[in-house]
Amino acid sequence: MIITDTHTHLYSESFNEDREEMIKRAIDANIKRFFIPAIDSTYIEDMYALEKQFPENIFLMAGLHPTHVKENFREELAIVEKQLNERKFYAVGETGVDLYWDKSTLDIQQEAFAYQIRLAKKHKLPIVIHCRDAFDEVFEVLEQEKGEGLFGVFHCFTGTFEQAQQALSYNMKLGIGGVVTFKNGKIDRFLGQIPLSEIVLETDAPYLAPAPYRGKRNESLYLVEVLEKVAAVYGSTPEEIAKITTRNSRDIFGV
Ligand SMILES: [Zn+2]
Repeated sequence: MIITDTHTHLYSESFNEDREEMIKRAIDANIKRFFIPAIDSTYIEDMYALEKQFPENIFLMAGLHPTHVKENFREELAIVEKQLNERKFYAVGETGVDLYWDKSTLDIQQEAFAYQIRLAKKHKLPIVIHCRDAFDEVFEVLEQEKGEGLFGVFHCFTGTFEQAQQALSYNMKLGIGGVVTFKNGKIDRFLGQIPLSEIVLETDAPYLAPAPYRGKRNESLYLVEVLEKVAAVYGSTPEEIAKITTRNSRDIFGV
């Protein structure tokens, strides 16, 4: 069995004390593929170091996170563009819109999002979307950029059934993480109606730990909790869900 964590920030400072052991714990539990979203240029070196340490398991993205879209965002996007021209990445992201932390940057967040979609299309890569309190604002950009070459993952999907349908209509798969295990997370109520071909699994570590670790530091090992919950929702087995969602991740990221 191979389980794929399609979204995990393994380079985060939260893992400075035990990074290597934490990654090995996950690998020992069959979580063998880690897709690593970018945040901004300050993390690039740490991401490359991680890839060097676990070359078979680590797959990097290049991008600018919406909460890090500040006055200097054009310089940051130029760095992303340069990275994409210089070497292999598996996706552009994470990008999108976050209105939970800062509403004042909406315009430049949308501009940076649209720009990254165009970069992804140019490099024939998927985009990985972060959306927090901003479904309308994310859909507005996707509506404008939709069409050939647009595909990817709607990471940490937490919307309604209707919003899920709309995300799928833009050729996105839904990234299902810890929220599916929460009592008030709501997505478990309709998830079973979404075809299994349309979902991938993720932790978003170190954030959003699944039950029973809710509120604690999340790590990739806890993807097992997500896997078991998703298997229960679909009336399937963890082995079958691991197989299908790993295959889906291969279809998206090309590896
Ligand atoms: Zn993330």
